[in-house]
Amino acid sequence: MKTATLNKGKETKYLNQYPLVEADDIYDHDHLKEGDLFYIVNDQGIYIATAYVGRQHKGLGWVLSYEQDEEINIPFFERLFELAKEERTYFYNIDGTNAFRLFNGEGDGIGGLTIDNYNGHLLIQWYSKGIYKFRYQILEALKTVFDYTSIFEKMRFKDAEIIGGFVEGVAPEFPIVIEENFTFYNIDLDDGPMTGIFLDQKEVRKKLKEHYSDNRNILNVFSYTGAFSVVAADNAKNTTSVDLANRSRPLTEENFGLNGIDPKSQYIYVMDTFDFYGYAKRHDLFYDTIVVDPPSFARNKKKTFSVLKDYDKLILGALDILAPNGTMLLCTNNSTFSLKAFKKVVKETLENAGVAYELQDVMGLPKDFKTHAHYKPSKYLKAIFVKVL
Ligand code: SAH
Repeated sequence: MKTATLNKGKETKYLNQYPLVEADDIYDHDHLKEGDLFYIVNDQGIYIATAYVGRQHKGLGWVLSYEQDEEINIPFFERLFELAKEERTYFYNIDGTNAFRLFNGEGDGIGGLTIDNYNGHLLIQWYSKGIYKFRYQILEALKTVFDYTSIFEKMRFKDAEIIGGFVEGVAPEFPIVIEENFTFYNIDLDDGPMTGIFLDQKEVRKKLKEHYSDNRNILNVFSYTGAFSVVAADNAKNTTSVDLANRSRPLTEENFGLNGIDPKSQYIYVMDTFDFYGYAKRHDLFYDTIVVDPPSFARNKKKTFSVLKDYDKLILGALDILAPNGTMLLCTNNSTFSLKAFKKVVKETLENAGVAYELQDVMGLPKDFKTHAHYKPSKYLKAIFVKVL
């Protein structure tokens, strides 16, 4: 087994179960290749943890075990999957929801690997070449532990030689329909990096529907397949969905249709969010609830946008077209944008704009997206409902 020696002073962090192995903490890592297993030892050579090499952002790899004699093999993966499955008992048994996360990376013990269940069709996501090297063992374990109709995979790392797609079982014809909190959505597990829905927002969608939709005009920017619009449309006066991508229109219309809502009764714009803000302002359009759930980075012909630098502009644009006593739902899934920093941007932007406001609900990930107690970035989702008085 290869070993990697920690720099002086870095031991406590790993003894305290920090799961991400950071390159800067290791004295010498040139000998470590993607997919290698290695022991992390302190500068006295004493064992601390077993990890694998899987480079992602600033990480060199992830800790898998704290027991030197624990082998990383099929039974090891089976044990972790069994535990993860047990913790999802609730989601397997509730009515009205058949899509949820089965295994959430470091939160369930293996950074760089997630598994989602879309009504029996499983999606594995590999976040590094390193974790992909364990593909055979992980698949064997997965097939033993989880029930499934089919298995698909997506590569979340850059490697032109490997394309994701169908792996096992009976492939469905896409789109398939899944249900979440009694609302239906179209899903395609074999079409680009996204699937049609972001499962991590399920509680936020529910909250929007139950508390912020009733008889309101709803605006949803960066709407993608319209998931927030569809869930709100049930109670809302009307919904408006805005997304730059052409494909968003048919996908959103189909999701409305699945839920018995005539798509023609709702507004859908294929447009840049900032252009829409201008358009709405010129036309005196006002909204009672505005949903802002952008990607971390976005680019269009004219400019680039980064949530870390430009969130204030999204808030100010929304503020201009927010009806009196309206609510903004502000979200970010950027793991480097902490809740504290995000709240600060929200507060400072609204204070500088001279408006009174009230934070109504601050939400994060649902239980199936299990997070790691000693690794803050695993709580990447932030969703704040803020009422402007
Ligand atoms: N809020 C969505 C997920 C957003 S995914 C949901 O709840 O499902 C990001 C979306 O932002 C993509 O559909 C992309 O087309 C869109 N997008 C990126 N840049 C944009 C821009 N400048 N204006 C509007 N939409 C944009």
